[in-house]
Amino acid sequence: MDHFLYKNGVLHAEDVPVADIAAAVGTPFYVYSTATLLRHFRLFDEALDGMDHLVCYAMKAASNQAILKTLGDAGAGMDVVSGGEYRRARAAGIPGDRIVFSGVGKTADEIRTALEGGIRQFNVESEPEMEVLSAVATSMGKVAPITIRVNPDVDAKTHAKIATGKSENKFGIPIARARAVYAHAASLPGLDVIGIDVHIGSQLTDLAPFEAAYQKVADLTEQLRADGHNIRRLDLGGGLGIPYERTNAAPPLPTDYGAMVKRTLGHLDCEIEIEPGRLIAGNAGLMVSKVIYVKSGEGRDFLILDGAMNDLIRPAMYDAYHDIIPLNEPAPGTEQQPYDIVGPVCESGDTFAKQRMMPPLAADDLVAFRSAGAYGAVMSSEYNSRPLIPEVLVKGDQFAVIRRRPSFEEMINRDTIPEWV
Ligand SMILES: *Cc1c(COP(=O)(O)O)cnc(C)c1O
Repeated sequence: MDHFLYKNGVLHAEDVPVADIAAAVGTPFYVYSTATLLRHFRLFDEALDGMDHLVCYAMKAASNQAILKTLGDAGAGMDVVSGGEYRRARAAGIPGDRIVFSGVGKTADEIRTALEGGIRQFNVESEPEMEVLSAVATSMGKVAPITIRVNPDVDAKTHAKIATGKSENKFGIPIARARAVYAHAASLPGLDVIGIDVHIGSQLTDLAPFEAAYQKVADLTEQLRADGHNIRRLDLGGGLGIPYERTNAAPPLPTDYGAMVKRTLGHLDCEIEIEPGRLIAGNAGLMVSKVIYVKSGEGRDFLILDGAMNDLIRPAMYDAYHDIIPLNEPAPGTEQQPYDIVGPVCESGDTFAKQRMMPPLAADDLVAFRSAGAYGAVMSSEYNSRPLIPEVLVKGDQFAVIRRRPSFEEMINRDTIPEWV
């Protein structure tokens, strides 16, 4: 559920007509709903009621400072995957003891930054990383709390580019080797081994792969405890999917997920962390774009938008589906027609949808891409020298630009021409 609804035939973001934002900031742009962000965070938080837990928002999904502060003020922790994200989280006021550091290639510099600034735990992904982390911590006179990310070899049944829990993926250590790796970790002076981490992929639409992975984590917890490790925290990753296509069966809700977590892991008396990204931010954001031209091709009509693959790469990169809706609600009974919906970038991959049924549209009409809040703005680029598009946050009847559109000069002047050119 989100807070982007038609009221009197006009698409609103909470209480603000989206067209008013377009008039103020120009198109294309991203707009996020505060109420939707908070609603999704609270759904997860409440789903784990009764267990000692922390919801750590996977901020790589949407990492604008205003979004981080909104969620942080509501009590969320953050899951970060780079030194840059760590700094963003701290700059948004998130205390170090609510920040979890994930990622397969943390550098010594990134580790030092997090140890200096304060960290809840590192989710370690390999033995070489473990040794570097111990050495850096020891050199600073510190002990780093860690979980080790295990790869449970479970098929998440999602797009290959976002599946992470099969043995062929680069993530974590094979669960079959876990006991040896935990023994190694326990022998290193700079580490405090506190738990287990698992994250099997993104946009999962079924609880079964999660449950299979968590069952393996439950078994491993008992084995590691028998080996003498004080396992007291389980980080269960993120990955719960959202309904991009409204006609499909809806994925499980956070409540169903929480009940499954209690069923599989509740008896272990561990503190639980989860790292949802997409489910918190995905349906909390739209990308709004304008029709530049309607072009008739051979046997098909193209809607050429001012937004492109550099602004929202998910269709080109993951074959992702986004609902695309007009800002003015079509009158009941309006005949729909098929369009190929494309951007102006010079690649055929710059196609958002093929033969999509839409009400008739004309140049200057505005459309909104639904479910664009996660992995949207954060994955945008300036390809074709198209400046990054602005982000806007709505709360009730107020809206504010939370990242402005850079000028062409700003974009160009980041380059320097050496004097010998
Ligand atoms: C990407 C990622 C997440 C978030 O995944 P979503 O599908 O957005 O919920 C959580 N944890 C880790 C380690 C990740 O890499």
